[in-house]
Amino acid sequence: MIFKSLCRHAEIGANSYLLETATARIVLDAGMHPKHEGAEAIPHYEMVEDGSIDSAIITHSHLDHVGTLPILLELQPQAKVFLSQETADLALALLHNSVNVMQSKRIELGLAEYPLFEHRDLDELRKSFERRGIERPFDVDAGGSIRATFHDAGHILGSVGVTLEAEGKRILYTGDVNFEDATLQKGAVFPEVPVDAIIVETTRGNHARRPDYTRVSEEDAFAEAIDGVLARKGSVLIPVFAIGKTQEILAMIHRFKRQHLIPRKTPVYIGGLSTKMTHIFDHFSAVSRRKLPGFEFLTDMEIETGTRRNRGPIPFVAGCIYALSSGMMTEKTVSNNFARQGVLENRRHGLFFVGYADPASPGGRIREAKPGDQVLLDPAYPPVPLRCEMRIFDFSGHSTREAIADYIEKVRPKQAFLVHGDEPAIAWFRQELTRRLPATEVIVPAPGDAHRI
Ligand SMILES: [Zn+2]
Ligand SMILES: [Zn+2]
Repeated sequence: MIFKSLCRHAEIGANSYLLETATARIVLDAGMHPKHEGAEAIPHYEMVEDGSIDSAIITHSHLDHVGTLPILLELQPQAKVFLSQETADLALALLHNSVNVMQSKRIELGLAEYPLFEHRDLDELRKSFERRGIERPFDVDAGGSIRATFHDAGHILGSVGVTLEAEGKRILYTGDVNFEDATLQKGAVFPEVPVDAIIVETTRGNHARRPDYTRVSEEDAFAEAIDGVLARKGSVLIPVFAIGKTQEILAMIHRFKRQHLIPRKTPVYIGGLSTKMTHIFDHFSAVSRRKLPGFEFLTDMEIETGTRRNRGPIPFVAGCIYALSSGMMTEKTVSNNFARQGVLENRRHGLFFVGYADPASPGGRIREAKPGDQVLLDPAYPPVPLRCEMRIFDFSGHSTREAIADYIEKVRPKQAFLVHGDEPAIAWFRQELTRRLPATEVIVPAPGDAHRI
């Protein structure tokens, strides 16, 4: 069987891979690159003959895994799309939002080809969805030559890794994976039987976690920092991704309030898309594998949202917690606007990072800045001095590199395809795996190269 990366760029971006047997063809994930626009943000779908794939498998609802699925389906209208029921709902909400984002970029950036797909395309897309549960094997092609099994990947609600069995071989694609429990999300449960090949994410390959790290001590430090800001009558801005990180932060704040680590009455604000996504998390609260079963954020916690009753822009006032997207503080998003219009330059406030931010993003620039530095948040406005309390907390939704290497060691693959990582991250894994598993062929797949499994 043949494995091919369709990713246009080697680093974390638009994830998409092709797996081809003698009789079937499937695509794994259909991401959009968050940093690029137009064709540069789309995987190399032209490398796959139009109308030729049996199906696509989507591991989870983050943009870099599902963002160009409507474009893939336009080229491959016959394809079925296999995903978890949670991913199906979250992905549709994300893609509808994506149409809106592209419509505003069409005007702001003068991109005539935008939007790359429309709301009505998503109604068509939905008809191709085949929802599947975890640990229930299913056929992905009509001939039954490839069998797939989803495993809980512990990354966000509905995220899966997938085992593929075909031509007597066993392949595991991790998607994005976290083996540890988070505050809401429970850790991944992956099979520990040997595989012929693993396609593995390497996101944190360049990050050594400090030895004394524990999730609880990190959360407690976070609570203390929030409490400090509130005590001096400031507000806390937490830039978050709408899917996953928002709900993790809400679960933490719920605990902080219950245990009186922060004042119980502190208003908590979340933004537009996060509210929609949190609704979906609540909808699955009793059926998905997670902590706080049955707990619904929007009804069981007091959260200020842009609801019908409370329409209009989110007010910026002292003594509040704002968990707002985007996580990387991209220009024109709420977190960027808040930072630029008051948070960054005021000593009273706190700006607390809780996840990944690309170094080239506004969030990345703030993280690199020293107190007093002028930071450019949006080229349309003058830079703003960094005077607020800026902290970085580690609540990653991705496994540590050691945990992933331990897992690879357990499944002893003949081939390991390293994906979803920047160059230094991939280099660490290459070295580590070569040392731990000298018999394993370690491969960094270049776009379009055919690898025989
Ligand atoms: Zn992800
Ligand atoms: Zn990803």
